[in-house]
Amino acid sequence: MKHLLKQYFGYDDFRPGQKKLIDSIMAGRDVLGIMPTGAGKSICYQIPALAMQGTTIVVSPLISLMKDQVTALNQAGVHAAYINSSLTESQISMAFANAKKNTYKIIYIAPERLDTQQFYDYSETADVTLVAVDEAHCVSQWGQDFRPGYLNVAAFVTRLEEKGKRPVLCAFTATATKEVKDDMVCMLGLRDPNILVTGFDRENLYFAVERPKDKMEAALRYVTGHEGESGIIYCNTRNGVEDVCEMLVAHGVPAAKYHAGMSNQERMENQDDFLYDRKPVIVATNAFGMGIDKSNVRYVLHYNMPQSMENYYQEAGRAGRDGGAAHCVLLYAPKDTATNRFLLENKETKKEITEEERKEILERDLQRLKVMTFYSTTKECLRKYILNYFGETTHMDCHNCGNCDADFEKHDVTQLGRQVVNCVYEVRQRFGINMILGVLRGSKNAKIIRYGFDRLKTYGKLADYAEPTLRQVIDALLQEEILIQTADQYPVLCLGKGYAKLKDEEFLLMIKTEVRKNVTGDGAGGEAEKAGGNGQAKGALGKSALDDAGFALFEKLRQKRLALAKEERVPPYIVFSDKALIDMCQKHPRTLEEMLGVSGVGASKLEKYGKVFLEVILEAKKGT
Ligand code: ADP
Repeated sequence: MKHLLKQYFGYDDFRPGQKKLIDSIMAGRDVLGIMPTGAGKSICYQIPALAMQGTTIVVSPLISLMKDQVTALNQAGVHAAYINSSLTESQISMAFANAKKNTYKIIYIAPERLDTQQFYDYSETADVTLVAVDEAHCVSQWGQDFRPGYLNVAAFVTRLEEKGKRPVLCAFTATATKEVKDDMVCMLGLRDPNILVTGFDRENLYFAVERPKDKMEAALRYVTGHEGESGIIYCNTRNGVEDVCEMLVAHGVPAAKYHAGMSNQERMENQDDFLYDRKPVIVATNAFGMGIDKSNVRYVLHYNMPQSMENYYQEAGRAGRDGGAAHCVLLYAPKDTATNRFLLENKETKKEITEEERKEILERDLQRLKVMTFYSTTKECLRKYILNYFGETTHMDCHNCGNCDADFEKHDVTQLGRQVVNCVYEVRQRFGINMILGVLRGSKNAKIIRYGFDRLKTYGKLADYAEPTLRQVIDALLQEEILIQTADQYPVLCLGKGYAKLKDEEFLLMIKTEVRKNVTGDGAGGEAEKAGGNGQAKGALGKSALDDAGFALFEKLRQKRLALAKEERVPPYIVFSDKALIDMCQKHPRTLEEMLGVSGVGASKLEKYGKVFLEVILEAKKGT
């Protein structure tokens, strides 16, 4: 298997989890692989497909995804094809005719096609030994991506079984919730599957949350500081996309935009501009991304906080698929929580659900929003927070995220916390954060006077403290569940089950204030950046990995890659990933044989591109 990995994909080792999944498939056992975005699911079925006799059918939800995967496979020397609605009828007939002749090792197909006469005819005679279901959560009605066509998978496998040759069935997804997991096993007809949840950690990703005073400015500074690098900027709304994109373009940044309000054609064009590196930056709503396999995305910047950790990790996970260092930066503002709440409350739901079900869904959504808000406000290790959320217990700080890199000063705010709680109690747990802050800081707001809250004991008690500090205290109280925030339209602060903690003499409520320069360069405390911090302008990719000569060579290799990609009309990352180019800059191969030692260079790519890239490297060497 390792030999196949090197020969076709040019990689030396399997990533965590890949080997186990592959071994299981090879032993003839069904599997369900749950791995985060970018962890390398495709290899888990592509390697067995190459090792096994017969053909592998891959069920995949998206046309762009299929096209990308098939192009990449053919580049790697694997005969693969896709069959979906982007082909004309005669192209489809041709593909099936070739398939019948066993021309393809791997066929990607849209789920709806499994239920067509042409496919029935094909599967009558075909030797299908493996069926792989990509984005398998689409079979579940629990998620937002339900796709009825996925229900055809089970029937297709049964048909083959009735003919006496049941293929191995393997399914892959990044969604790990229990409901979806159960659905996948049941609805796809997985038989006693080996269910593997592989490490959710993506070591090459650097996580950071920032609260810039001016998000536009922060975004611009970040993007211009990472010039030439490919990045995605996610906004919550179409208007947000328009504004941010316009601002970037006005400052000379080659940025494209993508949201559901644009025509299909415009979206496709913009997506291609991004994929082909004609425009390195794309500003988009969450409509963008599923099936985007671009491996050299060096950063994902969230202009707004998303609605759940699931969404965040999936979107952020689109950075650094090639394994090279990449940034995931979230620009947070408290307003994001309110906007998201509004969006969730006004979300269109399917008509057939009852009012009770609607309420249940909303409650679940708001709970997820809460978890996301905690991520955005925590001062603890961000990676630890993410991994714990996805069920991996870890107690170690990662020392590779914005919070671990920041210098925090810890403050004991237990007394302030008590005052806040007293105030919540005094207003009978019937008001929200703004009212509590107003009372504590002694505001003369008309509402406060009208309610007579200026006569409360806690009125003006914390007038000396800045509002952001008190908000931090409230965040800490919420995290400790000493207070809870109701899920109403106008959320109210109430005492929570953690209230008892305050009775414990030894309990300390701590907040951290930070002294650091942010990744976006919006210095919060003005302290010099820590050595080894990842916020340099050169960016995630840059200086730490390469010296100046290396960087110059990288640029030359990148130009060569762009030229070749243009000639062949494929996205540049299909020729070689950034990681492969960086590896070339570090290893300086002098012969084709040495070139084969570069990560991402397999036999087929060596034959195709080895010489051309070697020439660039040798030429640069002469010049130094
Ligand atoms: P997923 O489908 O899980 O989101 P992909 O299958 O697209 O992820 O893989 C992400 C990237 O990781 C791809 O560029 C792929 O070539 C690369 N990759 C996969 N396995 C390995 C490996 N063992 N070593 C190095 N890179 C790998």
